[in-house]
Amino acid sequence: MHHFTYREDELYCEDVPLKELAREVGTPCYVYSHATLRQHFAVFDSAFSNVPHLTCFSVKANSNVAVLNLFGSLGGGVDIVSGGELFRARQAGIPPERIVYSGVGKTPAEIDYALKEGILMFNIESDQELEVLNRRAGELGCKARIALRVNPDVDPNTHPYISTGMKKNKFGIAIDTALQAYGRAKGMENVEILGVDCHIGSQLTEITPFIDALKRLRLLIDRLGEMGIAIRYLDLGGGLGIIYDQESPPHPHEYAQAILQEMKGLSCTLIFEPGRVIVGNAGVLLGKVLYTKKGPSKSFVITDAAMNDLVRPSLYGSYHLIQPVERRERETQIVDVVGPICESGDFLAKDRSIPMVQPGEYLAVMSAGAYGFSMSSNYNSRPRAAEVLVHGDRYSVIRRRETWQDLVALENIPDFLKG
Ligand SMILES: *Cc1c(COP(=O)(O)O)cnc(C)c1O
Repeated sequence: MHHFTYREDELYCEDVPLKELAREVGTPCYVYSHATLRQHFAVFDSAFSNVPHLTCFSVKANSNVAVLNLFGSLGGGVDIVSGGELFRARQAGIPPERIVYSGVGKTPAEIDYALKEGILMFNIESDQELEVLNRRAGELGCKARIALRVNPDVDPNTHPYISTGMKKNKFGIAIDTALQAYGRAKGMENVEILGVDCHIGSQLTEITPFIDALKRLRLLIDRLGEMGIAIRYLDLGGGLGIIYDQESPPHPHEYAQAILQEMKGLSCTLIFEPGRVIVGNAGVLLGKVLYTKKGPSKSFVITDAAMNDLVRPSLYGSYHLIQPVERRERETQIVDVVGPICESGDFLAKDRSIPMVQPGEYLAVMSAGAYGFSMSSNYNSRPRAAEVLVHGDRYSVIRRRETWQDLVALENIPDFLKG
């Protein structure tokens, strides 16, 4: 469900015609629907309304401070994976007691920052990290609240690059050794054990892997109870998939029902870290057709949006539906939709049947709200795109387009190069 629909053959976001928006803001640009963001958050969050829980939006999926601010105003927290994301979350007004911090490589400086802010908990991914955290907390005279991120060794059946809960992945602490790690944590002076955490992967389209992981965590929680370690928070991570093409992921309510069924008799506060399922279908990337050309074996549509704006097709071979902003009767053609970047891996779609498009017209790359702008780069010295938030018949630029000046603003020619 989202608010990008055709009205009389023109694509709208809520009540804003995208053609006009593209003319005013320029392309490439990301457009997010406020109504969709709010609705997706509310649907997910309300699915757990009968139990104590906290929905911590995964900042890396979409890191814009306006988007984070919206989720904060709806009662949400955030899952962060860096000091930069903590800074964004605090700028967006997310209270520290609604912040959880995951990631295999937290630096001492990032740990200090999070300790000083007083976040809810650190999701610890290794013994060494736990030791550093204990030392830093001692140094700062505070207690670090923690969960161990456990790797439950389940196969999420997703793209290998976004599978995170298998033995071969770098994430978390192997479930067979988690008890010993908790034992060590219990003996640490400056660490308070709050919970158990896992996150098994992204774009999951089945419930079974989530439930398999949960079953393993429940056993662990029981064993921890026997060791005198009471678990108050159970963080089940994110990972629920969305429809890009022909997938049929579970609805958040189905996901919730299955989890709540499996949770019976456990009195923990549940934490979730959804990213994609909240923002994925709430955003599109608008690009303009620059040229079309027919090669000897393929036809190309060349747009001003490229892999530096949306890397998912190049990185994961991901599918994004591409639609003309103006719909009219016309023939279709099979093309590669590509950007101006000097890489053959620069494409938004391959061998795709789309309507015959003309230079100057706008295309919408659908379902680009998650891991779109947040993964974008300046490769080929392309300024990063603008981001726009639509609300009813209004919109606001929530990140201005970068300029050429921005590209060199942090660079410096040293004196020894100057003649
Ligand atoms: C990326 C990530 C998420 C969000 O995953 P989605 O698939 O976008 O829901 C949640 N938790 C952690 C630890 C992550 O790294």
